Amino acid sequence: LTPLILAVPQTPTPRFDWFQTEFSVSLVVYSKQKDLEPECVVVDVSDRELRVCVVLGDQSYLLHLELEDKVLEEYTVQVTSPLGKVEVCLKKAQPRMSWKSLGQHLGGSGLLDKTSSRELLFRRGVVTARSTVTHDTVLLCVRLPPGTHMGLALGHHVYLQAPVQGVDITRAYTPVLPSLTAPWEVVPRLSTLLHFMIKVYPNGTLTPVLGCLGPGDAVLVGDGAGTFRRAQVAGVSQLSLIAAGTGLTPMVRLLAYAVVSDHIRKIELVFFNKSPEDILWKQQIDELCDRDSRFQVHYVLSEVSDRWHGRIGRISRTLLSELLAPVSSGVGERRRRLACVCGAAPFTELAVSILDELGFEDQEIHTFTE
Ligand code: NAD
Repeated sequence: LTPLILAVPQTPTPRFDWFQTEFSVSLVVYSKQKDLEPECVVVDVSDRELRVCVVLGDQSYLLHLELEDKVLEEYTVQVTSPLGKVEVCLKKAQPRMSWKSLGQHLGGSGLLDKTSSRELLFRRGVVTARSTVTHDTVLLCVRLPPGTHMGLALGHHVYLQAPVQGVDITRAYTPVLPSLTAPWEVVPRLSTLLHFMIKVYPNGTLTPVLGCLGPGDAVLVGDGAGTFRRAQVAGVSQLSLIAAGTGLTPMVRLLAYAVVSDHIRKIELVFFNKSPEDILWKQQIDELCDRDSRFQVHYVLSEVSDRWHGRIGRISRTLLSELLAPVSSGVGERRRRLACVCGAAPFTELAVSILDELGFEDQEIHTFTE
């Protein structure tokens, strides 16, 4: 028998071009990928240095240049999704000066590479606001430097870094939105302001430091990463979000996506916490439920409390089979569903095995991990 060799489709390497006017220099990246996600671009501009990173699945295309001349910090980024085109329009610091070239490539520039193998770039964010979410969790609003535009794909996280006793500590955090109840018409995009929910663990390494930050304090924000693809949720009719504690964070932007998506007919959040006071954004979640009849929430607490008359327990097959009732499909209609899970690793593992037992296919389950 001749062995069957399957060709693995390779992501074609993008190419780029540039042009100038008297006042501007535009860089155009042709990603060669249709339906490019609008959030796939991260741009950092400072003085004569330009770094453009276009995330294409688990790979990314990097252009890192020392420009021919200085540019201003203000610039625009435009993504034409159907054509897979990204245009970064920079403003010349010296208008009317004609550039002979775009500049010199710096290390790694022009290459398509696995995102996980790239060195993280950290830029200096500044906390602009801080508010209390629960007794141990704060919401920080972080403004990125003026030269940074950070698109971050749905479901992806970034890295935050701060020095702790002289050692730089880095951890992954999934940005949320300023609130869950803003009346969105389109999914809000991230670009210069990022919001983080930080739960402070008294014996934690980084969280006690992050939890003390207030307006004016600096925090380093690294590049984004993640395995979630928007295509996984596009077209699904039932979206089940299974979150434990701060595992709510990746669900926040997904909820915003679901709320504005007509194809989703049922959105359910099964939210596991220890006690009533640990439930993040409970009031906002309840408000969203009241506003959108497709959305249902089930809170499950693991600690018995006098002040709680709802469900008590932990994740189990009995509980999920009761709560994740399938949405009825019309005659001849293909029902698509997606279950997303986020929480501590043992919780996530257990959730996946239960979903598997309940008949969810592999492609119908997404787990958020760092
Ligand atoms: P927590 O310790 O307060 O637990 C919340 C609930 O999770 C508990 O009430 C319980 O129902 C359940 N749970 C916890 N451990 C379990 C276990 N071993 N088996 C079964 N159920 C369990 O939650 P927290 O302190 O908010 O921590 C949330 C966890 O989620 C952290 O481990 C964090 O790293 C993780 N997280 C991961 C990501 C990601 O990977 N993208 C994002 C956010 C949070």
